Amino acid sequence: MSSASDRWDYDVAVIGGGPGGSTCATALAQRGRKVVVLERERFPRFHIGESQLPWTNEILRTLGVRDTIAASGFIEKWGASFRGPDGPDERYADFQYARETPTPQTFQVLREKFDEILLRYSEKCGAQVLEEHRLTDAAFDRDGVTLRFTDKHGGAGTMRVGVVIDASGRAGVLVKRFGRHEPDPLLLNIAVHAQYEGIPRASGRRAGDIRMFTRPDMGWLWFIPLSDTVISVGAVIPQIVHRRESKATAEESLAHYLANTPVALPLLERARRVSPARFDADYSYLATRMAGDRWVAVGDAAAFLDPVFSTGVMLAMQAGLEVAEAIDNGLGTGDVSARIFARYERAVRGRYHHFRRFAVGFYEPAFRKLWYSRPPFRSIFDAVVSVLAGNWRPSFVTRMLVEVFFAVVAVERVLLKLRGLRGAR
Ligand SMILES: Cc1cc2nc3c(=O)[nH]c(=O)nc-3n(C[C@H](O)[C@H](O)[C@H](O)COP(=O)(O)OP(=O)(O)OC[C@H]3O[C@@H](n4cnc5c(N)ncnc54)[C@H](O)[C@@H]3O)c2cc1C
Repeated sequence: MSSASDRWDYDVAVIGGGPGGSTCATALAQRGRKVVVLERERFPRFHIGESQLPWTNEILRTLGVRDTIAASGFIEKWGASFRGPDGPDERYADFQYARETPTPQTFQVLREKFDEILLRYSEKCGAQVLEEHRLTDAAFDRDGVTLRFTDKHGGAGTMRVGVVIDASGRAGVLVKRFGRHEPDPLLLNIAVHAQYEGIPRASGRRAGDIRMFTRPDMGWLWFIPLSDTVISVGAVIPQIVHRRESKATAEESLAHYLANTPVALPLLERARRVSPARFDADYSYLATRMAGDRWVAVGDAAAFLDPVFSTGVMLAMQAGLEVAEAIDNGLGTGDVSARIFARYERAVRGRYHHFRRFAVGFYEPAFRKLWYSRPPFRSIFDAVVSVLAGNWRPSFVTRMLVEVFFAVVAVERVLLKLRGLRGAR
């Protein structure tokens, strides 16, 4: 078996210590590989993306860190509620009824804390974590990769590794060198968000759930409880609307979108912003290339899907597990060429499209109309909720039930078109 001791400083370098990177580092270290993580920030650091999915539980269990996360005081999340723009219609996706979902309860997490727990766990499992180390260059040759980095003092360094994982999030340091992030033309939105206090929340088991309010312009708001007092509030707005309506600052833009979502106003009467507002633009996308000889990308570096169903962290971590397995096998056989990542890349693209269908649907009137109306059969709704819980490998029956749902959406689309034509006459 090739190993770092005779050929490289490390078997594997992971660029970025977010959930995708720490999952790779932990899973490889647990397999006995010599791993280094280069992270440009010092943790804990702010990151958006607080709402988790039930299917993340299984990944945390595989890594052996679920109990630590469960004991860390994060808010329990059991589901998601969606309210339409026209008043009382509410759709509640209760994960307890999600098909094929062994652990329906998940968490709303302060990402600075969640990501730090995962990164410290990587260290505990044997990975070396170098914070405030920024990758600046990677030179590939037949026998390995020479990485250049800068540290917090501005000093430069190099190291020799066998394989590099681009887990640098939306920076996509290697992905953008060998290709690009291809924007998704049907998901051109922006987000602006901040933390608030003074917002009432639901009572009982639903107190920790994410609440979403849709707008007639197809944008929507999220309310995610982060502690007993603090709620993350965000507005996701079509780029085309934002171009027209954006204000001078992120704070003013967010205030504008909140004030113009009447259905959410009762929650905001006593709301007080307790953090700066921040923008996130340029999403969604797929990387044109996700892997090459001696490198591979995970998480947001490889693909980013609109946050509407909170899939980001789960997808990044699932990818991390799969990449770790592919690299461990590759190092074992001495082949870490692009070829060994082909199956992984297919899986990432497949999962993106599996969830994309729902994300795109959410911005479409026909999908929303059906979503807010009574589902024809309970089992169809539970199949849809299963996917929204993170089910990326549904059984045949669940897949068929989801197909029925989309068939009804297609009929609804035609009916809406016909009604529009009749109205125009
Ligand atoms: C508006 C919005 C809302 C979202 N809401 C949710 C949600 O509710 N739930 C959810 O699951 N997901 C959500 N997401 C998505 C989620 O945040 C991401 O999918 C997730 O963080 C991806 O993890 P990652 O490890 O790939 O990347 P990241 O978490 O971004 O980590 C990448 C790391 O790489 C480091 N890095 C970058 N460049 C370098 C370099 N040159 N050298 C060294 N280090 C580097 C960065 O500092 C960073 O720590 C949301 C995203 C957006 C934009």
